[in-house]
Amino acid sequence: MAILYIVATPIGNLKDITLRALETLAKVDIVAAEDTRVAQKLLGVHAITTTVLSYHQHNTEKRDPELLSALQQGKSIALITDAGTPLVSDPGHSIVSLCRQNHIDVVPIPGACAAVTALCVNDFNITRYFFEGFLPSKQSARIQRLQEVYSYPQAIIFYEAKHRIQAMLQDLQTVCGSERRIMVARELTKIHEQIVSGSIVEMIKHFAESSIPCKGEFVVILEGASKDAQTDAEVEKMRHLFEQLAAVMSHKDVVMLACELSDLPKNALYEIASEYY
Ligand code: SAM
Repeated sequence: MAILYIVATPIGNLKDITLRALETLAKVDIVAAEDTRVAQKLLGVHAITTTVLSYHQHNTEKRDPELLSALQQGKSIALITDAGTPLVSDPGHSIVSLCRQNHIDVVPIPGACAAVTALCVNDFNITRYFFEGFLPSKQSARIQRLQEVYSYPQAIIFYEAKHRIQAMLQDLQTVCGSERRIMVARELTKIHEQIVSGSIVEMIKHFAESSIPCKGEFVVILEGASKDAQTDAEVEKMRHLFEQLAAVMSHKDVVMLACELSDLPKNALYEIASEYY
């Protein structure tokens, strides 16, 4: 029957696969996999002989119509990625959209996901959280993105590669200061699993001393901003606004505009704006 299954696979430990995932991978006509070698290894362990097709970020344009056509002919397909849940910082979005547009069922087969795995061993408040995934690789863009999100009250989940983790921590320090808490989860579910939390500056030290090696895969969780940090960020934002508008708007008008844009009290906004008049 024409169904696209989105199947989560392990993020390291091969035992972290569900019975439903195995059953699905064995019964579908095609497994569409990010890396066919990784998929063959997983399928081989479970003696699954389903045909495997490559499906990765560089061939989705070509593959999407092929997979859609196979589904329209009544075939069933399981989409898997190298690790974890497809579409979570991984390919799959375009084929899922295409299936939805063409009224083909898309069925999730849930399982491992690095973000959720890290979240459930985190020791600071994660009642609310925000998934950022990978930051931009260029430092200027990374800092700019961090400046956009650092004052969020929710904890923020980042994915990071081993060759960028130290630069990313330095940038976190630049934008958030030294004392905000973070958790670094390395090699989750694998032999060298390591979960460490502390302040940003402590974490930078761990990497400098190699007590956390720059090896493997990383999830970083940043504690949500405190009320004070949120207020500081809001004041900064308003300062920026006043700086830009002081030459073209009256003091009174700029404060009225700021009241529309910000939750800061009017008298506080008036005072900050005064610095520019
Ligand atoms: N789809 C995957 C998921 O469900 O988590 C994520 C794929 S993304 C391309 C790969 C990134 O996920 C890695 O660079 C790392 O940040 C994170 N990751 C994956 N496996 C991990 C693990 N075992 N330990 C820590 N982080 C991991």
